[in-house]
Amino acid sequence: MKTFRYLPGVATLSLDDTTCVGCGMCETVCPHGVLKIDHKKAAIIDPDGCMECGACATNCPVHAITVTPGVGCASYIIQTWIKGKEAATCGGGSCC
Ligand code: SF4
Ligand code: SF4
Repeated sequence: MKTFRYLPGVATLSLDDTTCVGCGMCETVCPHGVLKIDHKKAAIIDPDGCMECGACATNCPVHAITVTPGVGCASYIIQTWIKGKEAATCGGGSCC
């Protein structure tokens, strides 16, 4: 699953590193390795890997992460499986 990626540059993921307490929960729950603890703070290391599942924001104890959940474009991902990456489109659903 890690080989399938969202459209580049459009993820709504945002991190307030001044609020982050470095607990590491977001790094633990992220299924795509988007977040990593660096110098006792979370950092977004792969923004285009974010599928906007919302797990990090839901599990952050201090609400340092915001992401619009549920808009990881399942249509696009499924089309990459069926048609290949070049032919896949987002589909124009509620996410775009
Ligand atoms: S929304 Fe999901 S995929 Fe994106 S950074 Fe958070 S846990 Fe990872
Ligand atoms: S879950 Fe929140 S407080 Fe914990 S490391 Fe991630 S952003 Fe920081």
